[in-house]
Amino acid sequence: MIVELADNAGFCFGVKRAIETAVRTAEENKGVPIYTLGPLIHSPQTVARLSALGIRVADKIEDIDNGVVIIRSHGVPPQTIERARGKGLQVVDATCPFVLRAMTWAAQLREDGYQVVIVGDRDHPEVVAILGATDNTGIVVGTPEEAAALPACEAYGVVAQTTQSLSNFRACVAELVGKAREVKFYDTICTATARRQQAARDLASRVDVMLVVGGRNSANTTRLAQICQESGARTYHVETADDIEPSWFRPGDKVGVTAGASTPNWLIEEVVQRMTEFDGLQEQEVKNAQAATVTEEAVEAAPAVEANAVQAAGQGTAEDAAHQQAAEAAAAPSQGESGEKTQADTAGEYDAPTMAQYDETFITPNQGDIVRGKVVQVSSDEVLVHVGGKSEGRIPRHELGLKGDQEPADILTVGDEIDVYVLRTDDGEGSVVLSKRRADQIKAWKELEEKYKKGEVIEAAVTERVKGGLLVDVGVRGFVPASHVARNYVEDLESYVGKTLRLKIIELDRQRNNVVLSHRQVLEDEYQKQKEIIFNTYKPGDIVTGVVRRLTDFGAFVDIGSGVEGLLHVSEMAYSRVNHPSDVLSENQEIKVMILNLDKENERISLGLKQTLPDPWDNISSKYHVGDIVQGEVTRTVDFGAFVKLEDGVEGLVHISQLADHHVANTQDVVTAGQKVDVKVISIDEQARRIGLSIREAKKTNKPKPEPVQEAQPQEEPESSGVTIGELVGDLGALLQSGSDEE
Ligand code: SF4
Repeated sequence: MIVELADNAGFCFGVKRAIETAVRTAEENKGVPIYTLGPLIHSPQTVARLSALGIRVADKIEDIDNGVVIIRSHGVPPQTIERARGKGLQVVDATCPFVLRAMTWAAQLREDGYQVVIVGDRDHPEVVAILGATDNTGIVVGTPEEAAALPACEAYGVVAQTTQSLSNFRACVAELVGKAREVKFYDTICTATARRQQAARDLASRVDVMLVVGGRNSANTTRLAQICQESGARTYHVETADDIEPSWFRPGDKVGVTAGASTPNWLIEEVVQRMTEFDGLQEQEVKNAQAATVTEEAVEAAPAVEANAVQAAGQGTAEDAAHQQAAEAAAAPSQGESGEKTQADTAGEYDAPTMAQYDETFITPNQGDIVRGKVVQVSSDEVLVHVGGKSEGRIPRHELGLKGDQEPADILTVGDEIDVYVLRTDDGEGSVVLSKRRADQIKAWKELEEKYKKGEVIEAAVTERVKGGLLVDVGVRGFVPASHVARNYVEDLESYVGKTLRLKIIELDRQRNNVVLSHRQVLEDEYQKQKEIIFNTYKPGDIVTGVVRRLTDFGAFVDIGSGVEGLLHVSEMAYSRVNHPSDVLSENQEIKVMILNLDKENERISLGLKQTLPDPWDNISSKYHVGDIVQGEVTRTVDFGAFVKLEDGVEGLVHISQLADHHVANTQDVVTAGQKVDVKVISIDEQARRIGLSIREAKKTNKPKPEPVQEAQPQEEPESSGVTIGELVGDLGALLQSGSDEE
């Protein structure tokens, strides 16, 4: 005997996700009060197990004083979340993304000026949430008749409760088209229930016996049982494994198992397991038995609850009823895949062309497609994207292409339009699984191939230093060999990490996932171009900006663009004498220099720095006059005298004859380099840039005049003077001598 489990049996995507969120929240908030706003799902067994994890149920925000509140898959009005946050509660939003999509479109329609109409059950919590998204300005209609009763309006914007039937939604829209100049509608119907029913129908048509697991008062489970019965299988609706009777089965029977949306997997597994215990079923083969999901494993990990709680499984709810409606509609052959959005034409044209147009929007992307989608929800573990098909697509966190410490919210926000790669068209829950990372990579490879063909330069950030070179981010991982990092050898590759480089692709192999790039080649190309420009367009006298690259004893090499260097000789650095280039410049200093000479043949460029500075010899005659006594510094001594610096760039000569009153054989007998001296300006030749100086004259001028000689009075010779008459006469003689020299 064969036992086969139907696809899509049990929890839908939204319910499963809500439970996973709740379990994770309990694990992350041990010791903190945790509540769900209303029962998380309509399964007492699951609620009991969550309760064992410390998750309690509160009816309203006002009943919670502190802790964490989990919003269940139905969602709540935004105002409720605001109230919760206002009370200081931590909000964990487990609203089903499909519900959230309906809320988002409703809010958008309202913002765009449409009168929002929600097709659904006005008492259902999900509809209350969608209504809240319109700030309670929306109108809820349950039937085409209610829609027909609405007044004329400028523009209606319509969304559906996720569990609505497609036929009801379409009929309501059709009624509204006649009442407004414009009707815009978004098909926000979720197909999870429809898929479950279709899978049950398929299985029931292939087996002899169908077991439908779920509460007897569960509308959607009862509907499943009906469908299976109608498909020809002997169908039994069971709540637990204990309900199964061995007498239901005949030797060789094929048995199918399915379950309602709120039936936990462990209940389904118990049913399958129980069947293996029956006589005559030892040979059975369990096909398609799905392993318990993370969710169920996590819930299973909770302490066991009383067995009798199982009896309350799958109680009938508004949600179940709504699921049933949606499923019935989706079961109709004409419905196919549910669409996303379209815009209605005017009333008279609506029925034929617009419905056709509407159907055309039912495009489900194929696996391997790259499609454009709009981000509708961003959470820490996935991003929901509306891709224009029947189902919302989800990008798992690891498919987002996050870098380093990035979080999904760092790279995406609701409303962003992005390209995504379709990994799977159905993950078993009607949800499309997408990858942004793959889409980005494919796009990046395409662009790289284009750029490689054209030899274009690309910019990329260095992410890592590795053995033999650098890794760069060019949409995919690229490698820059160490020899291609710069025009010269680079010792410190680490210093490039974090920098953005301009690169050329030198090797590209998509099969081997290999991109090799060169920064050196870009620099080399630019160097050659710049050299051409400099030698062809620059001329002596031009002033350019450069960067000091290297200092030597005889000067500095200055980069005047893209690595083209000129020599700034030490003698051209300042008007005064420079002992070493490092006295004036430092490496990497930016300076303005004058081009003194361009030798194209030998590719040599001479530069001058002092030529860009004010010339101290300009108006020298107004600064110094013959007869002035000024202080200077001896810069060097020569055989014929000493050079004395009066200011930077202005030196005068003290001829050897002007060093002293007496004959000087050797300059250094009187002055030495570095000595400060008073000098008298004795000549200025502005043209020849010469100033004649005299130390001897300066001394004469500075020497105090002798006191007039008094009538000699007989007096006693001072005992302590220590100065003889001869000495006095000698000094007087010297003074008289210097006076005659002046003449
Ligand atoms: S039935 Fe659809 S909309 Fe409702 S919770 Fe499940 S997945 Fe979400």
